[in-house]
Amino acid sequence: MLSHIYSPWRSGYFTTDSNDVCVFCEIANNPHNDVKNRVFYRDSICFGVMNLYPYIPGHFMLIPHKHIDTPTLLSQEKWQHLHILSQKSIAMLEEYGASGINMGINIKKAAGAGIPEHLHLHFVPRYEGDTNFITTIANSRVYGVDFDSIYDKISCLAKKHLYDL
Ligand SMILES: [Zn+2]
Repeated sequence: MLSHIYSPWRSGYFTTDSNDVCVFCEIANNPHNDVKNRVFYRDSICFGVMNLYPYIPGHFMLIPHKHIDTPTLLSQEKWQHLHILSQKSIAMLEEYGASGINMGINIKKAAGAGIPEHLHLHFVPRYEGDTNFITTIANSRVYGVDFDSIYDKISCLAKKHLYDL
């Protein structure tokens, strides 16, 4: 439980597929499934997707299309692009209503990456006193309708903040 609270950027995805298909490459290569996969942003370099196993509703990720496990394998231009989008993502979460934000990257397995093969940047909206909330939801993962409305709201905000490059 404590690891949930103190590592909010750790990915909740687990590889259950015996074919070892990279879940992020699957999302990157199938834009026709964007709504189903909860992708709210996409350009030629990266995409933004809701974390399906969020520590807090509103938890999303920015992910380069390229299947790499460390930023050093990205060109400086693409890395800069991710950082410009990160800044815009923070503005987006501030408008979303977050009173604080955890932003983080776990690079490779030893650092705790949930999908170490494919680099991803986490953005987690935080609220005063929300650790009680995390404790409550960590074992349930039941969001239902709320998850859909959060995706809609983030998609709306992405049009305003992220597409304005
Ligand atoms: Zn991949």
